[in-house]
Amino acid sequence: MSDCIFCKIANKEIPSEFLYENDYVFVIKDINPKAPIHLLVITKEHFANLNEISDEKVLGEIFKGIKEVCKELGIKEYKTLINTGKSAGQEVFHFHAHILADK
Ligand code: 5GP
Ligand code: ZN
Repeated sequence: MSDCIFCKIANKEIPSEFLYENDYVFVIKDINPKAPIHLLVITKEHFANLNEISDEKVLGEIFKGIKEVCKELGIKEYKTLINTGKSAGQEVFHFHAHILADK
């Protein structure tokens, strides 16, 4: 989507450091971290939120991405958060999972 900030980052229209990438997702640091480590696992394809994703391959790759980026960065203990919908706290309507950790 042309006016979507995470699509622009996915398409490299807005430069951003990718900490991890596979064919389905990429991982960046949250711009406004709420923990010492705060990452976002973002789908390359635009989905408004989890409810819009039906492809089991994509669903699997999201969790694979979460595990692999944590393994690569040596993050052993972490919280994973997915906000679905405005009243649940979703602010950016392009699927992303938060990874929060202390170290
Ligand atoms: P949500 O509330 O939708 O689950 O989370 C959106 C998150 O995206 C927030 O934690 C916010 O700080 C982060 N965010 C919003 N815009 C940008 C951006 O342009 N770059 C990065 N790296 N993070 C962003
Ligand atoms: Zn998007």
